[in-house]
Amino acid sequence: MQNYDCIVIGGGLVGSQAVYRLSQTPGYKVAMLEQYPEGPSMGASFGETRIVRAVEWEVDIYTPMVLRSLEIYHALNAECAAYGIDPVFYETGGLYGGPADSDIFKGAQESVIRHNIPHDILDAAAVKKRFPVLNIPDDYKLVHDKQSGILVPERMLEFHYMLARQNGADLHFETRFKDISSLPDGRLLVTTNKGQFTTKKLIIAAGAWSGKLLEDMGLRCVIDNSTPERGYVAWIDPADDDADYRWENLPVLTIGKNYADNFYGFPVIKNAGSSPFTPGIKIGATRHKGEFFDPDPLALRLGIPTDDADEARVRKYTDKYFPATKSRPVIKDAACVWTDNDSPSEAMFLGTFPDDKRIIIACGDNGEGARLSGAVAEIVSRLAQDKPANFDLSSLSLERKELQTPCHTRHVYFPVESIEPC
Ligand SMILES: Cc1cc2nc3c(=O)[nH]c(=O)nc-3n(C[C@H](O)[C@H](O)[C@H](O)COP(=O)(O)OP(=O)(O)OC[C@H]3O[C@@H](n4cnc5c(N)ncnc54)[C@H](O)[C@@H]3O)c2cc1C
Repeated sequence: MQNYDCIVIGGGLVGSQAVYRLSQTPGYKVAMLEQYPEGPSMGASFGETRIVRAVEWEVDIYTPMVLRSLEIYHALNAECAAYGIDPVFYETGGLYGGPADSDIFKGAQESVIRHNIPHDILDAAAVKKRFPVLNIPDDYKLVHDKQSGILVPERMLEFHYMLARQNGADLHFETRFKDISSLPDGRLLVTTNKGQFTTKKLIIAAGAWSGKLLEDMGLRCVIDNSTPERGYVAWIDPADDDADYRWENLPVLTIGKNYADNFYGFPVIKNAGSSPFTPGIKIGATRHKGEFFDPDPLALRLGIPTDDADEARVRKYTDKYFPATKSRPVIKDAACVWTDNDSPSEAMFLGTFPDDKRIIIACGDNGEGARLSGAVAEIVSRLAQDKPANFDLSSLSLERKELQTPCHTRHVYFPVESIEPC
């Protein structure tokens, strides 16, 4: 049986970065378990582009976490360059807002002021001048920052797998975590479909599957707030001459009336290094159709076909905000899974397991986890090595008060002194 210092469950953006970080400690034995074969993520870490923004309107602690993530992504770009690999992060700037009294604009404005993020406030005319392809209603205001950008999830995964392997980490693909128990010597016994391992620490970074794992571990309060949700994105061919839609000229954006009615969008990336990928503007509705499923991607990304209603949901936004794309075709589209977090604060779950500090959890990111993933991977890696997180995680903890009600009696997966109903 193989024995590890730490096992990381999940080979997505969080797991892949965590396993690489841990592999950097000489002599530290770390493994990653990923239930699917190596290749494009079957979880949420796919789709060519992810918005990275420190500008925030929901969870305040995300801003410092994203600022730290940005440092990490820029450092990774330098490492990529050393290997002759295209960047994992493109700095495009960002544009965020809606009606002047909307929660998105007001939240974004408060966030940039509170955290000293350099920015401009633009009205509709100023937006038109800077970004001529965008059509913004006259009563809208937007925060424009320069440091937002695009993370490339597939490249992140490949790069981190490569680096982790170079450092001697074991990456076990097609290996599904099934069960855990405690051994008399204080180690954890991890059971998978491919046999058993022992480990001192366990990091759970299982994305939308985390609810299932947590349920098995008895954390009903959390799983009730952490539900796999089907999302959808479409790539629309913007124009024959698409210069104004390219990442050099158009920022990432989130615009809409309020939290529930807004879209997020990405510019075209062409001729960036050797890979002319993302040939259309990529658009998704932050709240798609409110469909909740089992996270099995065969049922989600591959099994459930996309339909006209999916496209119509996205066209509702593009027709209004990118009017010149009205008659342009959808080049490709995809359904996907993210985790809907309906806890009152909607903040992710990050920290050690309430009944067992050997287990560390990072999940429930509400479809926002790419931008946080650099900091999150660093935090879980530090916790696994008994180092301070360097962030105040109280508002993200599994034990935070808002998760206590409504909730069910908590069961744990192996005996502890007392089981308190919460
Ligand atoms: C369409 C879409 C758009 C998004 N846009 C943005 C954005 O613009 N900005 C942003 O910040 N975020 C965005 N997100 C969210 C972001 O992509 C995710 O938060 C992030 O990728 C999650 O990474 P992860 O590693 O936590 O989870 P995942 O990438 O889902 O990885 C979890 C992995 O765990 C594996 N796993 C699960 N259970 C087990 C098990 N029992 N044993 C072994 N392996 C297991 C899964 O197979 C999976 O590969 C978006 C998500 C989607 C779907």
